[in-house]
Amino acid sequence: MKTERHEVVLEVEQSLIWLRDEIENVLAAWCRQEKSENYWREPLIAAASAIDPLFEELRRLVDPGHAMPGDILPGAKAVIVFFLPFQQWLGKENDQGGFNAARSWAQSYVATNQLIRDINDHLKTRLEDAGYRAAVTPATHNFDEQKLVSRWSHKHLAYIAGLGKFGCHHQLITASGCCGRLGSIITSMPLAPTPRHDDEWCLEKTGHNCSACVSKCAYDALFETRYDRHRCYEQCLINDRFFDDLPLVDVCGKCGCEVPCSYRIPPAASGR
Ligand code: SF4
Ligand code: SF4
Repeated sequence: MKTERHEVVLEVEQSLIWLRDEIENVLAAWCRQEKSENYWREPLIAAASAIDPLFEELRRLVDPGHAMPGDILPGAKAVIVFFLPFQQWLGKENDQGGFNAARSWAQSYVATNQLIRDINDHLKTRLEDAGYRAAVTPATHNFDEQKLVSRWSHKHLAYIAGLGKFGCHHQLITASGCCGRLGSIITSMPLAPTPRHDDEWCLEKTGHNCSACVSKCAYDALFETRYDRHRCYEQCLINDRFFDDLPLVDVCGKCGCEVPCSYRIPPAASGR
């Protein structure tokens, strides 16, 4: 016999299958046209109600200037959040890259930004074809440059949409790990919200010794008890200067590469 939660999950899956397929179509076309290396695994997708009370919390938790879905699209009904998980070889190359990010990691950042733009443009067109309105949001660089806090924080949106749980490294751990990129689009299409998860997915948060992410950060930015976002961004800018032949690549990501939560929920945390 199905539980109420199972029925909700089934309804959500049916609503989102069409949109997930559309994302997969864009990704497949990108790879067919060989626009870059294929850096990605199978996309994940989730939806939040635009009036979820947790959005208001972002003004307290992230920044008083954090946008609400209705600020970006008046009459918004849902926020769709998707995750493009990276392939393991990419995380491995970044982990082994030495002081700087790996070149492939920096190149994947440029490619993924464009891919997210393509996905958003495609979803917007398809939603409009279906009679709904949609507003795209930038993949990155939508933050306050002084405070280094986002006005549209994808990882917090993803949390609200039930796509994952935060780890000690302040990144979101999804069912396919933390190593990847998030995108979002707001729509007037009503979508059933994806249920959030009650359990934690980070080993430290489930009482296991880990801190592998802290050990990976050799830049005095991530500690067991605190995260220095300014020091972190300094390292990202060092990488940008290092790859001065590429567009803006303010990335690092070492704390999320080749750690237990990089590519999956750590089995010990999920009880599997
Ligand atoms: S590396 Fe370990 S402690 Fe760090 S976020 Fe992942 S599971 Fe948690
Ligand atoms: S992204 Fe780099 S600098 Fe920032 S916390 Fe992770 S390892 Fe440290």
